[in-house]
Amino acid sequence: MSLFPDSECTTCVGGCACGPQERAIRRIARGDWPHGPMTPEQREWAACEADSAWEGASDYDSLILLDDKTLAESLFQAWWDYVRSNVL
Ligand SMILES: [Zn+2]
Repeated sequence: MSLFPDSECTTCVGGCACGPQERAIRRIARGDWPHGPMTPEQREWAACEADSAWEGASDYDSLILLDDKTLAESLFQAWWDYVRSNVL
């Protein structure tokens, strides 16, 4: 079960390796999300996810106040920072 409706990937050409949540977050961050505003559950998930990926560099209470686009951008950035600090 996915929190977000599945949507077409607008990033990958050919085979897409993104999960449905990553696809959704990318599109929301670009203002290219056809499913309307995020639901409270989606926002809550995104804020928790960014909070844990940043490992304390930000906090849930301020993340949840962001608008959808900024929240999605923040989560995307948090994922990147997480990957960079754990892989590189
Ligand atoms: Zn993709």
